[in-house]
Amino acid sequence: MGKQSYAVIGLGRFGTSIAAKLYEAGQEVLGIDINSERVEDGIVSITHAVALDSTEEDSLKSVGIRNFDYVIVAIGNDMQASILTVLLLKEMGVNKVIAKAINKRHGQVLTKVGADWVIHPERDMGERVAHQLLSPNVLNYIELSNEYNIEEIMIPPSMASKSLRELDLRANYNVNAIAILSHDNLIISPSPDQIMKNGDKLVVIGHRRDLNDFVNIK
Ligand code: ATP
Repeated sequence: MGKQSYAVIGLGRFGTSIAAKLYEAGQEVLGIDINSERVEDGIVSITHAVALDSTEEDSLKSVGIRNFDYVIVAIGNDMQASILTVLLLKEMGVNKVIAKAINKRHGQVLTKVGADWVIHPERDMGERVAHQLLSPNVLNYIELSNEYNIEEIMIPPSMASKSLRELDLRANYNVNAIAILSHDNLIISPSPDQIMKNGDKLVVIGHRRDLNDFVNIK
């Protein structure tokens, strides 16, 4: 991915971890916080950081907020500030605004005022933890719709030393293998002759019900 520019408004734990990760990946990151101590702390891990109140249009203009590819609003507790900031950013023509919501209602309002992507960190992380507890073999997953998932699964010992042809996942389990992760090697669209090894991870796509049966094979 090429270099993109990001502004992160609100340098609490959530905003700081987004900003630091983007910066580590070589992206241009501007951190913004009303609290100058947070700005001082943030400056070590991001490209630039400034102290301003994001509910003031002129302050946002002064840092050229419109020119950023993405603006992330990571203000949580002060719901009014979070909503007003998103509204201003969209009115000013910022292309992509991502905002953190602390509850469902907050999320709904953020969508109404134009947020392009609303994140519910506590709710989503709670769901992921429950999922992990219920299906310890599922290392990672993406929900494609209400019914379909892509899941990264640790293969059960019974599948080691077998080829994908022998396993015939489609006929036997109604799921499709889209990749194999063998150590650090990613094999996309693996051939039917590919032999699975102990410790390999399989990336499969399918109906959640079928995936659930599949991951519970011993
Ligand atoms: P986290 O849960 O991410 O750790 P937090 O609990 O420290 O966050 P939040 O209320 O979610 O606090 O606010 C995140 C940051 O947003 C704080 O550092 C706060 O100073 C900043 N912030 C709040 N209002 C504004 C504003 N109007 N303009 C800029 N920054 C703001």
